[in-house]
Amino acid sequence: MSDKQSMQFQTEVNQLLHLMIHSLYSNKEIFLRELISNASDACDKLRFEAIKHPALWEGDTELTVRIALNKEERTLTLIDNGIGMSRDEVIHNIGTIAHSGTKSFLNQLTGDEARDAALIGQFGVGFYSAFIVADRVTLTTRRAGAPLEEAVRWESQGDGSFTLETVTQAERGTTIVLHLKEEENQFLEPWEIKNLVRRYSDHIQLPIVMKTAEEDETLNQANALWARSRQEITDEEYKEFYKHVSHDFEEPMAWTHAKVEGKQEYTQLLYIPSHPPFDLFDREQRHGIKLYVRRVFIMEDAEKLLPHYLRFVRGVIDSADLPLNVSREILQESKDIDAIRLGSTKKILSLLEDIAKDSTERYQKFWNSFGQVFKEGAAEEHANRDKWAKLLRFSSTHLDDAQQSVSLSDYLSRMKPEQKAIYYVTADSWTAAKNSPHLEIFKRHGIEVLLLSDRVDEWVVSHLHEFEAKPLHSVAKGDLDLSALGVDSPTIETQENEKLKPLIDAITEALGERVKEVRISQRLTESPACLVMEEGAISGHLERLLKAAGQEVPQSKPILEINPDHRLITRLQLETDNEKIKEWSLLLLEQSLIAEGGVLEDPAGFVRRINQLIV
Ligand code: ADP
Ligand code: MG
Repeated sequence: MSDKQSMQFQTEVNQLLHLMIHSLYSNKEIFLRELISNASDACDKLRFEAIKHPALWEGDTELTVRIALNKEERTLTLIDNGIGMSRDEVIHNIGTIAHSGTKSFLNQLTGDEARDAALIGQFGVGFYSAFIVADRVTLTTRRAGAPLEEAVRWESQGDGSFTLETVTQAERGTTIVLHLKEEENQFLEPWEIKNLVRRYSDHIQLPIVMKTAEEDETLNQANALWARSRQEITDEEYKEFYKHVSHDFEEPMAWTHAKVEGKQEYTQLLYIPSHPPFDLFDREQRHGIKLYVRRVFIMEDAEKLLPHYLRFVRGVIDSADLPLNVSREILQESKDIDAIRLGSTKKILSLLEDIAKDSTERYQKFWNSFGQVFKEGAAEEHANRDKWAKLLRFSSTHLDDAQQSVSLSDYLSRMKPEQKAIYYVTADSWTAAKNSPHLEIFKRHGIEVLLLSDRVDEWVVSHLHEFEAKPLHSVAKGDLDLSALGVDSPTIETQENEKLKPLIDAITEALGERVKEVRISQRLTESPACLVMEEGAISGHLERLLKAAGQEVPQSKPILEINPDHRLITRLQLETDNEKIKEWSLLLLEQSLIAEGGVLEDPAGFVRRINQLIV
């Protein structure tokens, strides 16, 4: 009796299917790469599980992928003798989308096919790509070690539902039959399949064999690409291998391939993608380094192999020393892994140095894609801190658009001889940073200031205190010692100071608890006033970020600095009406707060004050 059962795809699967069939049509041959890659993964998994449970081999240790073409029936069949799937695994793996990153990816889709096609290229399309060329797909699978009569047959026309039934299958592993659409005759031609396998899957470690009437022919080289010597590998092969490990459609930006010998022996083939993956900031993102031990695949999300701030790197590390039965727990403790991690980190940093040296433009492209993540190294990177810091890039008052950036070394080379610190300003946006009143005196004297407006920047500067013995200093904090800038202080004569004292006292009284202090500014040349934090206190910008994140923020009051040369201040000095002085003082405070991106406590009051002033 058949237990055939019909089930619905999850909504997201339908969405994905629809999108794929329509927007990937011009790349339709990728289905073969995806299915072969799944077969290869399944064989990797078997090889790994069989280390502990040799019975899973079931007497058949020659792992292969076989391809059979049938012109009469118009079918293309792929057969692997990998790990296979249980009934539950079939339902879970190819009826739902479990990976939350994929779901959020789907939510970003717009319905604009050109844009969506570009997006989908950033993410592994996988099994469902079969439906680009087939109008019916039958998958029969038996998990290694399961009884012969507990195989499962899954079938779907890609139309929202699929059927499942229990069948008997002697061989372990998975057979996928694609019933090709009318117009897909090309995929019934042996030469076409040969070409595609060579192009896309040559580096796959296990033999891909085509069954023809006469004989079986192995189509690929069937050895691990990374184990070959660099001279033998073409750029094309490197690029295809990247697409295989990363599930990316686009070419990598750069790669590094090396065999490391010495205390630790391992091979690394690491790639920097040319654009960010869709789940770069997703906690569940699958880490991109595959760990192998002597060509045996061990695990994919080997997060111990590279620091978190390099999580955009993709590739393979193959160790000659680790035990084959290495587990996640062992990895956590392993000194060998620590050495590999250190070595791989150095390699990536050197690769980035090379890119930066080779072309500013190319490095900027890298930085636009991954700079935000790279900066997380502020807290994480200790062993290679200098190397890391040299690779940082920042916007600067020295450049006129937000798309360019400078390195800290560039900054140092332009510092005034007497200048003691690297100056920066933080703000919510590049424009806000660029126009910050705190920069006025620096602009006047041509002193460069780094403009930090990334969310992580506040955090970066809280961990990065100095670069090549020069401290990093916020222009919005503390007393400005202008002689340290290498410029003469604008002489605020004591006499003038004395003259301003009554006004400062009046403003101080008017603002009361709102400010810590009112004083004459050294940084302003154009604005009437600005807010400054004490050295060591958190900046207004960081305070707002923390509050937005729902964090407790220690209360620190700002200092109001006034510009004695500004007409508003000279005018205010002449004012005798106490009520007016109070209103004007509040206005000074409020406009300073707005200028640095802050939010007013009493916006309506501010508007009223402005209006009164105007009339
Ligand atoms: P991905 O390979 O990125 O996980 P796919 O859509 O290609 O996504 O495959 C989904 C899942 O289905 C795989 O993770 C795997 O668990 C399972 N699967 C697909 N093909 C096979 C196969 N030939 N043998 C065993 N499992 C498979
Ligand atoms: Mg896949």
